[in-house]
Formats: sequence, C-alpha cells, structure tokens
Amino acid sequence: MGNWRDNLRSVEPYTPGEQPKEKDIIKLNTNENPYPPAPGVMKAMQEMDTDLLRRYPDPTAGMLVDAIARRYGVGPDQVFVGVGSDDVIAMAFMSFFNSEKPIFFPDITYSFYPVWADLFRVPYETKALDENFAIRAEDYYGENGGVIFPNPNAPTSRYEDLSLIEDILQHNQDCVVIVDEAYIDFAGESALSLIDRYENLLVVQTFSKSRSMAGMRIGYAIGSPELIKAMSDVKYSFNSYTMNQTSLCMGKAAIEDEDYFQDCIRRIRATRDRSKEEFAKLGFSFIEPGANFIFVTHPRLEARKLFQQLRENHIYVRYFDKPRISEYLRVTIGTDEEMDALFAFLHRIINES
Ligand code: PMP
Repeated sequence: MGNWRDNLRSVEPYTPGEQPKEKDIIKLNTNENPYPPAPGVMKAMQEMDTDLLRRYPDPTAGMLVDAIARRYGVGPDQVFVGVGSDDVIAMAFMSFFNSEKPIFFPDITYSFYPVWADLFRVPYETKALDENFAIRAEDYYGENGGVIFPNPNAPTSRYEDLSLIEDILQHNQDCVVIVDEAYIDFAGESALSLIDRYENLLVVQTFSKSRSMAGMRIGYAIGSPELIKAMSDVKYSFNSYTMNQTSLCMGKAAIEDEDYFQDCIRRIRATRDRSKEEFAKLGFSFIEPGANFIFVTHPRLEARKLFQQLRENHIYVRYFDKPRISEYLRVTIGTDEEMDALFAFLHRIINES
C-alpha cells in the first residue's frame, strides 16, 4: 500500500528571492528595475482588442519575435521567446544538454543551473571562480557536454570581456555554449556580436531587468537558426502557447521604445556609481559591478546579521548562505531615494558597532 510514493519525483527546487506582502518596504533583493515599464506598454494593454483573449495566442509569438529581431538586427528565425529567461534556459537545457559528458558552469553562479541539471538529469561539474571571482577560461577547455554562465555573473555582478567568451568558444566548438545575459544592458558589450561566427553560441536575455517587466515574464534567446529550431521543436513538444496575448502586445511596445530604455539604463548606472562611492565610504568592499546590483562585504559587519537587521527595518537585500560568499550581501540598485535610505541605515549601524 502506498507504493506510488516510490515513484514520486524528488527534486530540490530553486528558492527565489522573497516577495514580501508588506507595503512601505525598500525592496533591493530580486534585481527588479525601480522604474516603470515604457509608457507605450500601458497604452498597448489599454488598446488591446479583448477579442484576442477569446482566441489562442499565436504559437510562434510572431509579433514579439519580429520586434526583437528588428531591435537586434537578426532574422526572426534566430529568435526564441519564452516565459522569462528561466523558461528559455530550461528549454535550452532540454534541447542542448543531452550528452553523457558533464556540462560546466562556475561554482558561484545563478543557483538555478544545478536545479535544472538535476531536474533534466544532466551531469554537471562546477569550475571554481578565481580569488577575484573571475571566470578562468582554461577551466572550460576540457571535454564537456555544454557550457553555461551568466555575463555579468550573478550574484557577483562581475562582467567578463568578450575576449574571455571568445576564448571559451574557441575551445568549445563541439558543444553548445550558453551566455546568460540577464544583466548585460547594465554592463558592456553583448556576446550577440559573436553569434554570426559561432553557430553553437546561444545568448539569452530578459525583459525582467533592463525593461522593467519582471511581472510580465518575457525572456528570449538569440542564436543560429539551427539552435532556435531545436529549441522550438522542444517547446512545441511541451506547450504550444507559452506566450500569452498580453505579453506579446506589451513586450512589443517595450522593445520598440529605445529612448526610454536607454534613459532608464543611464539612470540606474548613475545611481550605481553613486552607490559604489557610498559603500566605499562606509568601509564596504565589492567587486566592480556590471549588473544592476552590487555584491558587498564589510570587514567588521557579519553579513547574515546585517541582512537580518536590514530586514527588521524593512530593507530587503539578498543573502546566500553558501561557501565563499557567506560574508557578502547582494544589493539591487534602486532609486536614489531608496539607496539614500539604505545608506542612512548603514551609517547608523556602523557608528553604533
Ligand atoms: N539568469 C540570471 C543570471 C538571473 O539572475 C535571473 C533572475 N533571477 C534569470 C536568469 C531569470 O530571469 P527571468 O526569468 O525573470 O528572465
């Protein structure tokens, strides 16, 4: 009796950052954008023909795929869209990581990678970042079933130059290399400039961060038509209608407002520059941030305790109780006002300690 329990799938799930219900909090824990989406996004929602809700959406997500393709100067057959980049990466794991050999990713990185690897039964090996939390290209030279890493990396915020990515690509022509660019718009040059030369390179980006649409769940991948076709075949074997009509309309409006997008990035970078100065004045050290968050540590303040003190004072940041990074806090760049409130609080704590 009860033998069905023997066949339950047991997995250790990914734990997303908290989404507290209280109002009046300063929320710097999940790398959301502090500014609203482009004005055209609300307009697109208001103007949406409700008859479209009665029907199934376009399974090819054509209007959104075309808008993304136009923005990045690639063909529509080079774009795959999904329900956030989490969905896109999950599809990529299923589509590309089917070797007996282990896939490689850094020891400190987006903690969803080992979860997908376990879920899809993909063997993996982690490669230790160096003492400055940099990726060492040589670690990725060995035989493997695929490579994935974020650039900038999470939670370190460290951006690696394209020369490092190209080095990894040159040594990995027999597997798919995925560069997870969730935060690239806040950093430097994208690996998209390499897709024409490396048909095994998949670049994944998202509307959740630089386009202020985490709630809408839109992510995309750009790569060679062959990679995109393989992902689409997997998607159509799983769920034909991943993208709902509202995300198609609102996503298109978001990607077409380039001026608003550039302005938003500029503001967040300016606040990031100011925040670096303030953290330094308070005695924190950090890795040069490339993303919309900063990974900080203090020689006298215990990270776990500080995380709790901040939380009790309605300021949410992210703490990871993991080897090598348990003395760090990851702080999302909010508005100037939010950051000022954080710094005023930290100032008090430091003066009292
Ligand atoms: N990659 C990285 C490195 C991330 O930090 C995140 C955000 N948690 C994602 C992918 C997924 O973002 P989304 O699904 O919202 O596009």
